[in-house]
Amino acid sequence: MVRLLLVGPPGAGKGTQAVRLAETFGIPAISTGDIFRANVRDETPLGIEAKSYMDRGAYVPNELTNALVADRLTHADCVPGFLLDGYPRTLDQVDALDEMLAASNQALDVVVELVADPEVVIERIRLRALEQGRADDTDDVVRARLEVYTAETAPLIDIYARRGILVSVDGIGEVAEVTDRIVSALAERGIGGV
Ligand code: AMP
Repeated sequence: MVRLLLVGPPGAGKGTQAVRLAETFGIPAISTGDIFRANVRDETPLGIEAKSYMDRGAYVPNELTNALVADRLTHADCVPGFLLDGYPRTLDQVDALDEMLAASNQALDVVVELVADPEVVIERIRLRALEQGRADDTDDVVRARLEVYTAETAPLIDIYARRGILVSVDGIGEVAEVTDRIVSALAERGIGGV
């Protein structure tokens, strides 16, 4: 049973690492960004509402995001644990997640911070824009997303550090190399893969 969070600025490689770590630990990678994008693609009511925020690099309102995660965590695949990628991103979401977990006598094991320099992440996102064509990967929106991250999400790192569950890992390097760093850091905390 392992419950992990992945935090870090846009473009730090969270999505890529989340998929690899989920496989290593036999748990689902839950990306709120991916869930929103799927809803936007399918033009669901949630997607139509989320799109207006995502297109300008703003956060989707906490109420919608918290409800989505609360529902997702009840799925059977979360029984062995989960890895949340891109949630929580605000203080309100930290509180909401704490409540969701406490309601079923659970708690987070580790929060992994992927550390990456803003200049480097902007370059990475430029590459991703060419490869994937994500609607919110244009220069202006990326700058807005970085600003929102700094203002609203970066402070969460301190909260988890104070709880003693934060592990900070250098996110710059080859994909496999960064995964190895994370897996080693988790192993030092007594968390091993399957
Ligand atoms: P991501 O794929 O994690 O970069 O997320 C893409 C976009 O989805 C973000 O810029 C937000 O608009 C929205 N989003 C994803 N996760 C959250 C969250 N936890 N809270 C609010 N908005 C989110």
